[in-house]
Amino acid sequence: MGIRRLVVIGRYSPDLNKLYCQLAKTCPVQMEVNSPPPLGAMLRATAVYKKSQHVAEVVRRCPHHERAAENNDGLAPPGHLLRVEGNPHALYQEDDNTHRHSVLVPYEHPQVGLESTTILYNYMCNSSCMGGMNRRPIMTIITLETQEGQLLGRRSFEVRVCACPGRDRKTEECNFKKQQEPKTTSSSKTPASNKRSLKEAPSRPDCSKKAKTGSSSDEELYTLQVRGRERFEFLKKINDGLELSDLVPPADAEKYRQKLLCKSSRKEKEAAAPEPKRGKKLLVKEEKSNSE
Ligand SMILES: [Zn+2]
Repeated sequence: MGIRRLVVIGRYSPDLNKLYCQLAKTCPVQMEVNSPPPLGAMLRATAVYKKSQHVAEVVRRCPHHERAAENNDGLAPPGHLLRVEGNPHALYQEDDNTHRHSVLVPYEHPQVGLESTTILYNYMCNSSCMGGMNRRPIMTIITLETQEGQLLGRRSFEVRVCACPGRDRKTEECNFKKQQEPKTTSSSKTPASNKRSLKEAPSRPDCSKKAKTGSSSDEELYTLQVRGRERFEFLKKINDGLELSDLVPPADAEKYRQKLLCKSSRKEKEAAAPEPKRGKKLLVKEEKSNSE
């Protein structure tokens, strides 16, 4: 008896056994049992801190989210991080001894034609919430229990609640792969496994590429609020110039620059001789652009 399989739907990394999700968004978890548990069996979900130095502390919501009116109108106690969505039988508990929070739902047999039962969980704080998780990683532990509290099965996975779960999963998976690779190459001495590590090598640059495009803001659009028409026109000119220079091939850009320099230096000569400082500066610029 026990939980045969636990499938976390959504932004879940099998390599890291880690779910990435957003605050208060639905996280479906599918459960498959080895054999039907006795009548009255319950599925309990508890959040605990992953690191040993924090594990004794109860995972609870931060004071801000606990007190806010938003997301606090249901049957869940406002201090509980973990909730079950759309199940009127959900039962919220605080352990008398450990004070840990958990949420229980009656185990339901899968619907006809399905192998698993799905439960919808919500995480009601971000991992970064000050005064709450405070950037400390957490695990969700799912246990299958009899009505009397006897343990029938147990599964767990790590959870990160954040604003950009997709991006964070990519980054952390890449870091994980990078960490794995040197280990396999250093421990492998036989030529066969060397070959394999070479084959796997392309995944590393690919990873860094992905990370680069993910973090670079070259293609991202930003909005800037500017006070005053004059300043706006000024900044717009700069931006238009940058946009244009992106379109002009470097070789052509150089030609334009030369033309401009010729014009301005001619003008200066025509206008007045006594301005050696500016003339010098222009000369320096000209030399530079020639050598480039
Ligand atoms: Zn919070």
